Amino acid sequence: MSLSLSTNQPRAPDNADDGVWLECIDCGDTFAPFEDVRYTCDDCDGLLEVRYADLPTFDDFEGQGVWRYAAALPFDAGVSIQEGATPLYEVPRLEDDIGVETLRIKHEGMNPTGSFKDRGMTVGVRVAAELGVDRLACASTGNTSAALAAYGSRGGMETLVLLPAGKVAAGKIAQASLHGARILEVDGNFDACLDIVQELAAGGEAYLLNSLNPFRLEGQKTIGLEILEGFLADYDAVPDRIVLPVGNAGNTSALYKAFRELVQAGELAEGDVPKLTGVQAEGAAPMVEAIENGADEVQRWDDVETRATAIRIGNPVNAPKALPGIRETGGTAVAVSDEAITDAQRDLAGEGIGVEPASAASVAGLRKLRSEGIVDDDERVACLTTGHLLKDPDAAAAAGREPEPVSADTAGVLEHLQN
Ligand SMILES: *Cc1c(COP(=O)(O)O)cnc(C)c1O
Ligand SMILES: [Zn+2]
Repeated sequence: MSLSLSTNQPRAPDNADDGVWLECIDCGDTFAPFEDVRYTCDDCDGLLEVRYADLPTFDDFEGQGVWRYAAALPFDAGVSIQEGATPLYEVPRLEDDIGVETLRIKHEGMNPTGSFKDRGMTVGVRVAAELGVDRLACASTGNTSAALAAYGSRGGMETLVLLPAGKVAAGKIAQASLHGARILEVDGNFDACLDIVQELAAGGEAYLLNSLNPFRLEGQKTIGLEILEGFLADYDAVPDRIVLPVGNAGNTSALYKAFRELVQAGELAEGDVPKLTGVQAEGAAPMVEAIENGADEVQRWDDVETRATAIRIGNPVNAPKALPGIRETGGTAVAVSDEAITDAQRDLAGEGIGVEPASAASVAGLRKLRSEGIVDDDERVACLTTGHLLKDPDAAAAAGREPEPVSADTAGVLEHLQN
């Protein structure tokens, strides 16, 4: 295995600010990070990546949560609501049932607004403050809007969110609403919302905080760093594989970047990099299609449908970063049915872990890959669960047991329990 992107040694260009700069992943052009607002390369429109002259070692990390990893981030502190430091649960019954050596669940639903999006927002909103913008915007399948609304209001900024009408889970809209975002319900899918908000951002209407924004991914790198530190503490080894749901493929890109930076810093051997394994719903699986076809680019799916609304995405914007991440780590991508997602949601709930449907896709994907023999029985695996059960109460109630009506007296209740 060779991590091609890890070979270029960091060397600060003239436009770096305190050892931090933006670099185009396609043409290599560099840009000053905080002088003006920019989301893609001026020259070729390629995706940008945040680069550092100094890469941290594990010894540089101190404290708790996302900002423990400040040495791997562009700032020492951010607009914070104590995000990160999420549990890495043991699940012995599920581990046995699926049949792997070790299975741990990294439950990102335990973040302040109930999803991993908080990790990206604490950094992204800090950058917005640095740039001096006063309005933030995103397109969202729900969780990004909840995080943007909460972190934006904490940072004292206006927030604007574009959501696909009728396709966002109730808990997420409630959060965006109470935290004071202006919610625009678009008569179209997520991909249409993102097209619009990108044009608004290009016109200077607002600062874009979708995962196209490279600073979001810096915060999300810390998921990978926490998983690695957790496994090193418990097993003295990093996981063989990390399985995660894929929507816009921001996390896939962010974890890959975290690992590349550790390899560059000499903290992780190339052969030890965990295999990044992406899972999509069958009705929204353009990344899986590209991996299966060995394609260099993802073809946009115009019609997408799945109960896992957080990953109901047909045009994963971070695909150019994520495809090499999956391939160069020796991972793969797999599609699972909505039924398998609901089953996995119940499996996790049976271990006391409440997740929303998209999150359960990781466990459904692991089960499928294990049954196909693609995942070995001796593997140490971490599954990422991205959002909390309460985000989508309707899906949880539909997947769970029906309430049973009883009369308002003990005798009646006892009689009912006998049946
Ligand atoms: C945003 C989100 C995803 C998709 O993550 P990407 O980084 O865009 O691939 C998955 N699950 C949940 C719950 C999310 O909110
Ligand atoms: Zn470029």
